[in-house]
Amino acid sequence: MDKLIITAAVTGNVPTRERTPYVPVTPKEIAQSVYESYLAGAAVAHVHARDEAGRPTHRIDVFKEIVERIREKCDIIVQVSTGARAGKTAEERGEALDLSPEMASLTTGSSNFPDQCNFNPPSLVEYLCERMKTRGTVPEIEIFDSAMIWSGLSLIQRGLIPEPPHFNLVLGVPGSLPATPKNLFFLYENLPRDCTWQVSSIGAIHVPLSMIAIALGGHVRTGLEDNIYYDKGVLATNPRLVERIVDIARAAGRDVAGPDEARRILSLRTQRAATAMS
Ligand code: ZN
Repeated sequence: MDKLIITAAVTGNVPTRERTPYVPVTPKEIAQSVYESYLAGAAVAHVHARDEAGRPTHRIDVFKEIVERIREKCDIIVQVSTGARAGKTAEERGEALDLSPEMASLTTGSSNFPDQCNFNPPSLVEYLCERMKTRGTVPEIEIFDSAMIWSGLSLIQRGLIPEPPHFNLVLGVPGSLPATPKNLFFLYENLPRDCTWQVSSIGAIHVPLSMIAIALGGHVRTGLEDNIYYDKGVLATNPRLVERIVDIARAAGRDVAGPDEARRILSLRTQRAATAMS
């Protein structure tokens, strides 16, 4: 079984300072929280950006500052978000891809968030795939609902997503697939054989679903984007959430991957080299 890759999703689009003082919002705060998560055991940083008012933004200058500040501190894999909350058009949502990040999120279909549509029509998805491909950026295929697996497989067959693919099974977003072990097993059983995958889960079931992923050989995402609480009534911090996953992995006898080991497991360097040659 591969070592466990822990992804830290430190900010997201939803948590605000009013709800938790621990959510990092400015580029400096985000980079610091990513660094603390890296020290705690995270190998991948899933990055969202906020504008000066704390609102989600797609602006490349903000992403650039975040990435540069992270790079000054550590070699964690940077995965930028191309999610539906920060930009309206395909061009806006792909703006940060011009930084040639190692990874980026890619949702392969539409579902609902509590307050808006998680809008990903085929033309937009294909546009983001092409833009990632030309930059050598490896997509993380975000699965909010089961049909998104088959949409992802179609993109792989058409050569728009490089192989082996990497999936993120997102469970517990209101409006999308609920976070239950049964739903996790259903998604897991329908993944292609040669892939890597992780689970992101929202709510109190985060720990049990992460344990199942660790036992099955999958990987785990954690962080304030998914859960602002550590326990009932106890606010979380990003490094503490990462530390908890490290502790569970150790108890289960599974080692935790550093960034370079994660690059090998996710075939990042190979894919970037292959893209550069083609
Ligand atoms: Zn995100």
